[in-house]
Amino acid sequence: MIQTKTTLSVDERELYERQIFDLRQLLEVSKSLSSTLDYNVLIESILYAVMGQFNVLRAGLFARKGLDTPWFSLHRNYKGFETAHGVEYSVSDDHPAMRLFLRQYGCYSLADIKARLGSLDGLEALSVLGPDLVVPLKSKGAINGILVIGERIEGLGEFTAQEREYLVDIAVMAAIAINNAFLFEMTTTDMLTRLKMKHYFWTILAEKMDLARRSGGKLSVLMLDIDHFKIFNDTHGHQFGDVVLKSVARTLQKMVRNQDVAARFGGEEFCVILPDADSAIAFGIAERVRQAIAATRLQQQDAEVSVTISIGVAAFDPERDLTARQLVERSDKALYASKAGGRDRSTVAD
Ligand code: GH3
Ligand code: MG
Ligand code: MG
Repeated sequence: MIQTKTTLSVDERELYERQIFDLRQLLEVSKSLSSTLDYNVLIESILYAVMGQFNVLRAGLFARKGLDTPWFSLHRNYKGFETAHGVEYSVSDDHPAMRLFLRQYGCYSLADIKARLGSLDGLEALSVLGPDLVVPLKSKGAINGILVIGERIEGLGEFTAQEREYLVDIAVMAAIAINNAFLFEMTTTDMLTRLKMKHYFWTILAEKMDLARRSGGKLSVLMLDIDHFKIFNDTHGHQFGDVVLKSVARTLQKMVRNQDVAARFGGEEFCVILPDADSAIAFGIAERVRQAIAATRLQQQDAEVSVTISIGVAAFDPERDLTARQLVERSDKALYASKAGGRDRSTVAD
């Protein structure tokens, strides 16, 4: 057998070693970015990946905040940048910079952008942060976010061409991950109320029940139904009925905790998963929601109108609730008791 032996120069060797190292790191980043569809967790992972890989002290991501907004806004997970309190940092998705980024994909400094566009007008939210580099996220032929990074740990100097290339590789993966998370958000969110859809609710409830069963933790669900909504629709019209649904959903979302999952269960029925809540805590949350909804006034022509809701509360009981359906059925029975008892009240399932 003939063996060929190539001798590498020290420089070549260093280059290959560096490339192998970068590829390994990239694989790690890729694994971490594809392991979640949760928008917040994802953005956190992207920022930590960039900060860790490039030794920078500041990183932030401009991403779409909602499903149908034309703005990219600085996500609240940003690290190290100094921002003014209460100010929203946003860039329009039809700013000429987006066309520039699409035409010539890569990393930009603010000076690069200014040189190409003539000014930074409309990009104040970016420029005020003073990033060293701006890295657009591109997926499916569109920009779906903007990464801003700087400043490097002392002594590291400017980004090399190689580092910029590596940064773009990470940005491409981040863009795909964000796009997936966005699609997931769209297919699990009810467009009228912006609450989660029923199929998502069932999936999460089964997951949380499994967790509670294994850890012995608490878990409760609320079932809510608007009182006499049929009469309401008949009196004020279906369209105003939808306005009410949106308002109730908004109040509901505002009154539950971050870890709670509020979903639209059916037409004017809602369901909430309350992790770590026993029946007393769940009842407290239910009452808070109920009172807030009853206190909300909506303007309809010259009149102010309000609606009330009835709620059923059920705490997960591993002995009785073998399936998610059984737990929801018990909350539904409690809801029925609230209706029978005169409405505008919460009842705990026994
Ligand atoms: P109660 O719950 O207090 O017993 O009385 P209700 O009149 O609310 O009765 P029910 O919950 O059975 O009513 C469902 C009604 O809600 C039927 C329909 O008129 C209305 N509805 C359901 N989905 C929608 C929707 O998407 N938009 C609007 N505007 N109305 C809806
Ligand atoms: Mg109903
Ligand atoms: Mg109803």
